[in-house]
Amino acid sequence: MNNKLYSNLIFELSHTGRRGYSLPKNHFGHYELPKEQCRTKDAVLPECDELTVVRHYTNHSENNFGVDNGFYPLGSCTMKYNPCINEEIANHPAFCNLHPLQPQDTVEGAYEVYENLQHALSEITGMNSFTLNPCAGAHGELTGLMIIRSYHQSRNDDKRTKVIVPDSAHGTNPASAAVCGLDVVEVKSTPEGIIDMDDLRELLDDTVAAMMMTNPNTLGLFEKDIPQIAELVHACGALLYYDGANLNPMLGECRPGDMGFDVTHLNLHKTFSTPHGGGGPGSGPVGVRKGLERFFPIVNPYHGNFSVELRAYAYILTLGKENLKKVGSLATLNANYIKESLKDVFELPIEGLCKHEFVFNGLKDKSTGVTTMDVAKRLLDYGYHAPTIYFPLLFHESMMIEPTENESKNTIDGFIEALRKIAQEASEMPEIVKKAPHTTPISRVDDVLAAKHPILTYKQLINDKD
Ligand SMILES: *Cc1c(COP(=O)(O)O)cnc(C)c1O
Repeated sequence: MNNKLYSNLIFELSHTGRRGYSLPKNHFGHYELPKEQCRTKDAVLPECDELTVVRHYTNHSENNFGVDNGFYPLGSCTMKYNPCINEEIANHPAFCNLHPLQPQDTVEGAYEVYENLQHALSEITGMNSFTLNPCAGAHGELTGLMIIRSYHQSRNDDKRTKVIVPDSAHGTNPASAAVCGLDVVEVKSTPEGIIDMDDLRELLDDTVAAMMMTNPNTLGLFEKDIPQIAELVHACGALLYYDGANLNPMLGECRPGDMGFDVTHLNLHKTFSTPHGGGGPGSGPVGVRKGLERFFPIVNPYHGNFSVELRAYAYILTLGKENLKKVGSLATLNANYIKESLKDVFELPIEGLCKHEFVFNGLKDKSTGVTTMDVAKRLLDYGYHAPTIYFPLLFHESMMIEPTENESKNTIDGFIEALRKIAQEASEMPEIVKKAPHTTPISRVDDVLAAKHPILTYKQLINDKD
């Protein structure tokens, strides 16, 4: 591998006067821009020949890791099943050239998709009706909380300012509550990793607007006390919110609506076929129990991200009712298979059956000094994306693994074997794990610096050229 090629920026490959294109002849005459609208200096743009540009971007694209080139066991937010056929459907000109301001009688087909998808999601979740308006999971949470706030306001119940959120919740839960102007109150988990009912009882009173829950929770555990939780929350006049970002393990097995949840959001860009990551387009539809639909706010001028909704609809139709029912059990089987195969070498802080994902607390043998970060980095050398690490915050060396329902046994066995090998390396030659990765174009970067001070423009060169 030519590392130099990868480390170059396109600006560094530039040579003054070099061209990789020719413009067609101008047939429209000449138009001189007013002087005040013109640059005083030429823009600093890279000047490269065609093949240099093609190779530069092709090499970069090959440095990407995605579900299409490898196993991606990133817990909680993992890339699930993203069939390519749905990309083709979303890219069909009849769909992707639609304009939201087109006359209504020219978009009847799109309305049919909206309508049918809303019905399908209602049936899958047991909710009464859905809005497809929100554009992300967090956006759905905000929408759901706005519905809950409007519901309490409609009853002139103004003292409900609190939202109860479990300590294992996804970070967007407390953030959405805060953005909605509500106060976040944390409810503890038991040592077994589920909601502490005694702690919850203490927190419930007539100042609580809602409780938010994820089920299975972010530890991959099924919250078995939901019926009692729903009863307690409703008894104090609050509503129960279901964060359904990762619905996979429940698909076809059970429905939030039947468990007593009043409001729920789904992430179509996780469970229903849209690739996500990098903040790309998403969809976080919100479903409500009967009577709450009159509080649907408008959080987006149109009907959400149509192409994401289209993929979800195609996914649901492709699998059909029967196969959709297998998603939950297969996701659960795969996760338990990995957990049981590795728990002799990795520390399993919470024993027992998990759902679609589970958490290890680093290697079992803590004497080697090899951390979860080291294991994650070493996995890259074996060609696997790392699992989610250092989340949830309940354990010091969290490593959250979610295989999804679609991986073959061979793929999963390969992953298990790689992790077993790393565990062996950690005890026999820990340095090789601590210094990993060894096969990627760059080794360890300063993640915090990269996140806090990203360098997004090539200032150095621009300054030099000035
Ligand atoms: C991903 C996720 C969210 C947030 O979804 P976004 O689309 O990233 O805003 C919320 N809750 C859980 C449990 C998630 O996994």
